[in-house]
Amino acid sequence: MKVVQLRELHIMSIISSQLQSQLFSKIAAWEILSYKYVGELWRCTAPPDMTVDIYTHCAYVHIPKTDKHRGFSEFVSFWEFLDYFMMRSISKASKVQAFLTSRGRAETWNVTSSQGGLGNYHVKLSSLGGLCDCMLFLCFGNRIHRELPYCFKLLERSRFFAGQPVCHHIVAAINRGESSTLAEFKAKKRQENKQERWLDRFL
Ligand SMILES: [Zn+2]
Repeated sequence: MKVVQLRELHIMSIISSQLQSQLFSKIAAWEILSYKYVGELWRCTAPPDMTVDIYTHCAYVHIPKTDKHRGFSEFVSFWEFLDYFMMRSISKASKVQAFLTSRGRAETWNVTSSQGGLGNYHVKLSSLGGLCDCMLFLCFGNRIHRELPYCFKLLERSRFFAGQPVCHHIVAAINRGESSTLAEFKAKKRQENKQERWLDRFL
């Protein structure tokens, strides 16, 4: 009876499958571990029986022992997954095109899909941050602060995330502009807005 209960607990995740696949996928976990343990892991891709369980403050990655290989268990911090997400976003952003469609207090950009073909995404950047209408951004944006408040706190401490969810379309728009990070863009925009308000008073 106890075993059944433990198994049930094991498959219960504290986060939705959508957020798990975006931020804590098996591919992400495997790449993080392969980088950390160069030469120790024995495959190019994650073993099918690998599990990634998300707890309130970190992830737990487990590969069961078999006749062919030893078992492997490791706690992986949210920082490492966020860092992996950031590197992937930067790499994907370099492969899409972004076109500025209007400038002002808020900038709007059209960004092509990284899969090519159909679909342009609309990115809006302002002193408050970035918005995108892609599914990745909407899902990440709606879920992260509700499902993983601790992970959301980490976003607030990162220059890349600047306290909000980010997708590669937003990164592409920022990079095609004159800023290298969202935090830098927000600071620059706030400064511009302040100067405009100052000029408004005198003109
Ligand atoms: Zn997007």
